[in-house]
Amino acid sequence: METTENQIAVQHPAGVAALEAIDVHKSLPLGRERIDILRGVSLRINHGEFVAIMGPSGSGKSTLLNIIGMLDTPSEGSYHFIGQSIYNLKEKHRSELYKKNIGFIFQAYHLIDELTVYENIETPLLYQNIKSSERKAMVGDMLDRFNIVGKKDLFPSQLSGGQQQLVGIIRALIARPKLLLADEPTGNLNSTQGEEIMQLFKKLNEEEGMTIIQVTHSEKNATYGSRHIDLLDGRIQPSITSSNPI
Ligand code: ADP
Ligand code: MG
Repeated sequence: METTENQIAVQHPAGVAALEAIDVHKSLPLGRERIDILRGVSLRINHGEFVAIMGPSGSGKSTLLNIIGMLDTPSEGSYHFIGQSIYNLKEKHRSELYKKNIGFIFQAYHLIDELTVYENIETPLLYQNIKSSERKAMVGDMLDRFNIVGKKDLFPSQLSGGQQQLVGIIRALIARPKLLLADEPTGNLNSTQGEEIMQLFKKLNEEEGMTIIQVTHSEKNATYGSRHIDLLDGRIQPSITSSNPI
């Protein structure tokens, strides 16, 4: 990709692709056979979009989100993230791109067991050049905002599923990523908390231009986005309700 396009991508004007996957396939060995998890997925997501990925369990949503987040590699196909062809990059460069740009809320939380709530939330700030006093203020602010100051010294195993999910959400948001990837982010929250998180995503998207891709089963959550992508058996389905179909 030419320098000019890279420079444009870094400035994030609306309409420029944040990411583009072309004909992505993912298959894995299963005994002597292979199973096809993604079967030719192409999608383009622009900066500032808020997209919901929907589909039944097992349709490949988490696999697709992991590929988008550069945590998994396709078996075939190409993938560009902010103008860079990902599979031409060295692992170190890819990991830097991830740390600088992406906040990921994992379906299974993936908190670090040996770290406290406070330390888990602080982790993404350690990758940025943020001073210790500032980090402390930022983490404190988030703990306060989400009403979990009293839990800051606990370890993940001492929290309920909902509390772990909340810590995972805070960790993903604290460094204000350009791209937020959220895999069933409110699945373990109560409905009021879930609603609050969706409102927060909406605000971050509208006011800060954060690009958001969330996997959700909830029709209601999906309405917060500007369009949705429906997956079935590893393929994108044509959608009649999408405001901006692919
Ligand atoms: P979803 O998030 O839509 O529920 P996934 O992307 O997690 O779907 O998985 C899609 C399909 O691929 C499922 O049938 C799942 O069992 C299978 N799958 C995912 N990851 C693996 C893996 N590492 N090994 C074997 N099968 C897998
Ligand atoms: Mg999943």
